[in-house]
Amino acid sequence: MDTLTAKPVQEHYSFFQGVERNFDKAAQYTRFEPGILQQIKACNSVYSMRFPVRIGDQIEVIEAYRVQHSHHRLPCKGGIRYSMDVNQDEVMALASLMTYKCALVSVPFGGAKGGIKINPKKYSAFELEKITRRYASELIKKNFIGPGIDVPAPDYGTGSREMSWIADTYASMKPGDVDSLACITGKPVSQGGVRGRTEATGLGIFYGIRELLNVQEDMDKLGLPLGVEGKKVIVQGLGNVGYHAAKFFFDNGAIIVGLAEYEGGIYNANGLDIYKVVDFRKETGSILNYPGATNFTNSKDTLECECDILIPAALENVINGENAGRIKAKIVGEGANGPLTPDADEILAKKGVIVVPDMYLNAGGVTVSYFEWLKNLSHVRFGRMDKRFAENQYGSILHTVEGLTGKRVTDIERKQLLHGPDEVDLVYSGLEDTMITSYHEIREAYLNLNRSVDMRTAAFTVAINKVGGSYEELGIFP
Ligand code: GLU
Repeated sequence: MDTLTAKPVQEHYSFFQGVERNFDKAAQYTRFEPGILQQIKACNSVYSMRFPVRIGDQIEVIEAYRVQHSHHRLPCKGGIRYSMDVNQDEVMALASLMTYKCALVSVPFGGAKGGIKINPKKYSAFELEKITRRYASELIKKNFIGPGIDVPAPDYGTGSREMSWIADTYASMKPGDVDSLACITGKPVSQGGVRGRTEATGLGIFYGIRELLNVQEDMDKLGLPLGVEGKKVIVQGLGNVGYHAAKFFFDNGAIIVGLAEYEGGIYNANGLDIYKVVDFRKETGSILNYPGATNFTNSKDTLECECDILIPAALENVINGENAGRIKAKIVGEGANGPLTPDADEILAKKGVIVVPDMYLNAGGVTVSYFEWLKNLSHVRFGRMDKRFAENQYGSILHTVEGLTGKRVTDIERKQLLHGPDEVDLVYSGLEDTMITSYHEIREAYLNLNRSVDMRTAAFTVAINKVGGSYEELGIFP
């Protein structure tokens, strides 16, 4: 077992029970009667499946799941992961986090999650395609996928390639469905994906932490200066989420002091160049022995090094009752889903560490998935209708201003000023606005509770209020 996925020292509750425990902690601060809370908390549909796939000259029986946690808004939404750690409890926990995540960032979906219990590294692309297409047809057979039913996306161990196989399987089994591309998000741009989806989760993490770093009062409490510039950051996980988070921090002047992957970790108090580390890993197969850095053969030791911000962006339960006491970061930003156990939360809260919760911080992925779904349903690229119109408008404004002032802007300034929005500009701007707005909604809830709870509990109250409110609006309880 690699050290990034290390299972927790036995805490007395499962991952799903941990999420329920966090929910209960927050529910007491909301206005809903117990029955409504019970309904919000429960997983609505759990589909556990076993299907055979011929691998080489043998038949393997594959264990897989799709859990729809909440139908209060449709479609349901959430990724599909490929990992040997997949089990029903994990998928239920992750599906429920998706409900709260979507509610927090006002993405109008119920939460879901899928998982296939395989180690994707063990299979060829051909075998993975067979497994993925078979999983997709199992979902289609049971009506567990569709643009208005349930819309999966990438998660740990999957990416745009798997999404395109699923989109193709769906389209071939639903001939003539003009909206079929909207059955899944995270597709390659050439196959109905949206620009900006790949980096969305990492970018959302950056926007979320940047918002916290810009609040004077909170920075004073932590004894940190305002802003991203110069902050020391450790990132665990160099997959899609961790890599992009590290890249955006690095590009915006933060110092990446530590990086951890399954093979081990590296630390350099003077900073690591994320691009060079990634190139080094491509060449040597490992981040270990990167010039000038200290090696940690036990990856988890890297998390305990000196830094301002720690971003666990791999799998769940990596910071738990055993190691939380040794964490030195002042801010922990949950890039992964569930990287902290409830025990870790308590220990970090006592130490005065601000934990920015997963259901908010990694919501950038599903936010941009929402944009992709909208693009697929509207059958038009964002910016296609208005880019040139906007450029012409900016041109006439500039022309008028230059005429009135008698001054001319430089060619570089002209290019910038006349730039109409492309798809990626609109996606980034929609994501930035979402992360900023949601951050302040959570902070307001936190202040309304007189800072007596942590940010996760405050976030849960916001999410519960939104989900509970929509049940009331729908009149589901006669
Ligand atoms: N798997 C991602 C998550 O956990 C994205 C989900 C989605 O885009 O639907 O948030």
